[in-house]
Amino acid sequence: MRFNTMLLHLNYGPDEKTGASLTPIYQSTSFSHSAEELENIFKGSEYGFTYTRINNPTIEAFERRIASLESGIGAVACSSGMAAITLAILNILKTGDEILSSSGIFGGTYELFKDFENFGITVKFAKDNSIDAFKESITNNTKLIYIETIGNPKLDVPDIKSLSVLAHENKIPLIVDNTVTTPYLIRPIEMGADIVIHSTSKFINGHGNSIGGIIVDSGKFNWDFNKYSMLKKFEKYGQFAYLAKLRKGLFRNIGACMSPFNAYLNNLGLETLGIRMERLCQNAYELAVFLKEFDKVLSVNYPGLKESPFHDIAKRQFGDKFGAILTIRVGSKEKAYKMINSLKYATNITNIGDTRTLIIHPSSTIFAESSDEEKKFMGVFDDLIRICVGLEDIEDLKEDFKQAIDRL
Ligand SMILES: *Cc1c(COP(=O)(O)O)cnc(C)c1O
Repeated sequence: MRFNTMLLHLNYGPDEKTGASLTPIYQSTSFSHSAEELENIFKGSEYGFTYTRINNPTIEAFERRIASLESGIGAVACSSGMAAITLAILNILKTGDEILSSSGIFGGTYELFKDFENFGITVKFAKDNSIDAFKESITNNTKLIYIETIGNPKLDVPDIKSLSVLAHENKIPLIVDNTVTTPYLIRPIEMGADIVIHSTSKFINGHGNSIGGIIVDSGKFNWDFNKYSMLKKFEKYGQFAYLAKLRKGLFRNIGACMSPFNAYLNNLGLETLGIRMERLCQNAYELAVFLKEFDKVLSVNYPGLKESPFHDIAKRQFGDKFGAILTIRVGSKEKAYKMINSLKYATNITNIGDTRTLIIHPSSTIFAESSDEEKKFMGVFDDLIRICVGLEDIEDLKEDFKQAIDRL
């Protein structure tokens, strides 16, 4: 089955009871069973739904579809992308452990990693995306490597295959945030990643109507239960140990579950992921090429452009598609603001992955809490504008950007 057919037919069929063609919204907190059944479900000897903070049919339909699209053995849907990142990491780390991360990561994740330091979990950032930079930062306490498929907004691209080899040599898992590329461009598990995360709020939902996140496990990582001692209790679940610990432990106890209604909207949005990504990648490429022509645009950063230092690795990993996000520099903060305020179709909004074109000045918003030094490290400049293209007709976008640039 190919990708677009998978989106519509994999793990999917009409509702068995009613024939409803869409997965119904089971907007119910809890599910009734006989006393014996409920005992068995809690014991794990029988499968069933109990309480929506733990599992729910609408949410499970979404989890199963994402797990198979990402080539994983299972998935846990969360209330947000940030909840997914938090739970995926805290499921296996404790005080004294270290995370090794790529540097160009999403601002929210960067702030979260700083929060972790209050709990004794420290973070080291590889100084660039070379394997050597990661290698030299690994210590005996490093318990996982964390990367994004395309750093946002730095738009750098780490080498997933080589990093998975490095991680496995050190007996630690590689966690990959695949939010901006989606399984349409890359399935990190097939390249050696162990756990994949999404903010489903973005391209997976695709319409900017639900905050959500998801964690997918490959089931392939060979956990050392002495090193990851919190998983020891779940050893009996074999390759499902990580997911069992999550669902029966931290995920259930913290309570950051997805709502059934949001899962319904995500199921619906997911059906068009392929055709949306196809159009978004095409629009982003065309807009990047178009913007290069203007003297007032000092630089255009997009992995799809040959001059991007990450073009080759992006091409190797994603084929001929490079995502919907590009950044430009226009010379000053004032010019950036003027441009943002002059655009008709690009909405100034702190989001990516919508049907409409979105634009933002990262330095004064997402990175407002960061120091100048941190911003520089994350590739954020005062004259930088991030554009996440939408599904509009490209000629309309070109006209809109041209009139805004002409005013600078
Ligand atoms: C938005 C985003 C997140 C956070 O997701 P939320 O759903 O907003 O909590 C994490 N990673 C990346 C790459 C993102 O773009």
